[in-house]
Amino acid sequence: MIATSLLDDCRRLAFTVAPELEANPLYVVDAETLAGTPNPADCLGFARRGNWMDYETIDRIGDAWTGPGPLIALDGEVIRESHGENFTAAVTGTMVHELAHILPAIEARELSHRQPGDKMDCDAVRQNQAVSLSRSIAKPAAEPGSCIDPHNDQFIRRTCHVYSRAVAHGWDVSIDGLFGGSLWFACQPAHWITSLLPELHSMRTASFAEIETATPPEAFTKLWQSSLDLYRSFQDPRGDIDEQI
Ligand SMILES: [Zn+2]
Repeated sequence: MIATSLLDDCRRLAFTVAPELEANPLYVVDAETLAGTPNPADCLGFARRGNWMDYETIDRIGDAWTGPGPLIALDGEVIRESHGENFTAAVTGTMVHELAHILPAIEARELSHRQPGDKMDCDAVRQNQAVSLSRSIAKPAAEPGSCIDPHNDQFIRRTCHVYSRAVAHGWDVSIDGLFGGSLWFACQPAHWITSLLPELHSMRTASFAEIETATPPEAFTKLWQSSLDLYRSFQDPRGDIDEQI
């Protein structure tokens, strides 16, 4: 279990690097809080942008629930098992990754306004929500570079901005696995950060919505294209060793 003080520190990190998130509640919980609900399990963490929220998850947030907002769950047990040597930096590293999933912040009117006990809260709706959640978790990973890929180039760019701002403000953030396992074909985070350096400086106070609409540096775009080329070369049957023999 992650100490409440560390979860609070992660929430402070979020508001420091992206002040626009302060407009709505932000829930940062240990995944243990959501045990038994059909949320992703056995991963370092997961995030919900807040535009869809089920009653079971709201129930688990309990007294901390103050209204619609995004959610970040960090799994202290999995993080300790995989990055135990510097637990705090690994937790903040996971927080940086998940923050990049909820940015740019969505508008209040786009947030789910469900709350326990409202007129839609009944067994049938809860069951339906559980089935929807289970189905979305069971979906196969999206094709890298596709518009539904959650770990695409824009995600990498946001992660680099969140990471550089957090480090600049003094947080100890592990850079290992910053992008997660699905980007196995891409180069290390340090290379991406280097490719974005001019922008990380010039847009250090910009909102993430502004970053999203700005053209990224050419060095970054080239790095993404070469990463996709590498991924596709692994998928190309002509690259199969048996075929070549
Ligand atoms: Zn992710």
